[in-house]
Amino acid sequence: MRSTHLFLPKKIPMKEIEKERQMIREVAAKTAQRIIQPRAAETDATGEFPRDLVEAFGKQGFLSIILPEQYGGTNGDITSFCLVIEEIAKVCGSSSLFILVQGVGSMPIWVGGNPSQKDLYFTQISEKNRLTTFAFTEPEVGSDVASIKTTAKKQGKDYLLNGHKCFIMNGSIAHLYSVFAATDPDQGAKGISSFVVEDGTPGLRFGKKEEKIGMRGLVTTDVIFENCRVPQENRLGEEGEGWKIAMGTLNMSRPVLGAQAVGIAQGALDYAIRYANERIQFGKPIASFQGIQFMIADMATQVEAARALVYQAAADMDAGLEETEKLCATAKFYASNVAMKVTTDAVQILGGYGYMKDHPVERMMRDAKVTQIYEGANQILRLLIARQLLKGQPEF
Ligand SMILES: Cc1cc2nc3c(=O)[nH]c(=O)nc-3n(C[C@H](O)[C@H](O)[C@H](O)COP(=O)(O)OP(=O)(O)OC[C@H]3O[C@@H](n4cnc5c(N)ncnc54)[C@H](O)[C@@H]3O)c2cc1C
Repeated sequence: MRSTHLFLPKKIPMKEIEKERQMIREVAAKTAQRIIQPRAAETDATGEFPRDLVEAFGKQGFLSIILPEQYGGTNGDITSFCLVIEEIAKVCGSSSLFILVQGVGSMPIWVGGNPSQKDLYFTQISEKNRLTTFAFTEPEVGSDVASIKTTAKKQGKDYLLNGHKCFIMNGSIAHLYSVFAATDPDQGAKGISSFVVEDGTPGLRFGKKEEKIGMRGLVTTDVIFENCRVPQENRLGEEGEGWKIAMGTLNMSRPVLGAQAVGIAQGALDYAIRYANERIQFGKPIASFQGIQFMIADMATQVEAARALVYQAAADMDAGLEETEKLCATAKFYASNVAMKVTTDAVQILGGYGYMKDHPVERMMRDAKVTQIYEGANQILRLLIARQLLKGQPEF
């Protein structure tokens, strides 16, 4: 199985890499301003992701941002993925999540896929805008993922999948589902295997569509397997390697989740600053009051600190360092808390208007909340960080 590092350090001069990243950031920022921001409120209100944005994201290479050039991908690394997500999250959480899920859905193929699986699926993703997703969570199993109940039983050259996944982003619209199921339920984490289940496979169906408080543009459904027959060629890695594939995927995705949180927070801060300069009370812009200035200074400091953590975690990942788990978890944990705090403070700076849908900060606050919950709820990340710190200590 491939190492859990997505990218081997590139043998290109750093200057060239920086130039490429800068270009990717500029394209993302322009796309965000020109075509995403004007539709962000409508996407939130209708809960429908605009299909034409999928085309636009495909053309810009965002849907295949982390895939190598040899498969038609953008050849980005985790840092460039973070830059794209941050720029887009500044104006629309749902749109940033759409691109993020696409990356997270394809990461298990990166980590566990063999060359022919990569060739097959990555080419479909980059050439046909095929959508992906990551399906692990179940109604009774969230944080305790090693206890999943979905099973995959070998039958001849196929596996029969049975079980129920919930909260799956892009459920019902994705073409390729990276699914985790127990091939040996008695073995816990060691008995989990990973499969790519293609849309249209008999026995794959979709259940309840969730009504969410935030990230409303992204369709989120139950994904149900009823004697769903999946060929053994669709298994990623060996039987029992699903846990490693899932943990490798989550580790890689955490800096990107952090970048999403930084983007949402920065968007809210920028808006609050503009508003504070324009809103007059007691005959002066509210920005002239020290109470508001201190809030803005605190918000900006938190955003910068979160950004520094996120891009350090991304840089470590891109450099191929072995020990990235703690920093990636720290980045996601800290940045998501900052996003919640800063968006809430932005609503406060707008006062009553902040509570109204005429301004985007209430949407940003609703979007920020889930960054503390998904891809490892923050309590679980704190456990993971503490475990890393206490490793090797006599009492632990
Ligand atoms: C909008 C949205 C989209 C999602 N998309 C996907 C997706 O695409 N694919 C996917 O597989 N999953 C997805 N998820 C699921 C998400 O990853 C889980 O919700 C998350 O892992 C938490 O699991 P849970 O909701 O079952 O909470 P639980 O595990 O039931 O936890 C409830 C609370 O208890 C805390 N807790 C649990 N165990 C401990 C412990 N040992 N110590 C301290 N506190 C603890 C948790 O932190 C949390 O606060 C999504 C969730 C949401 C909300």
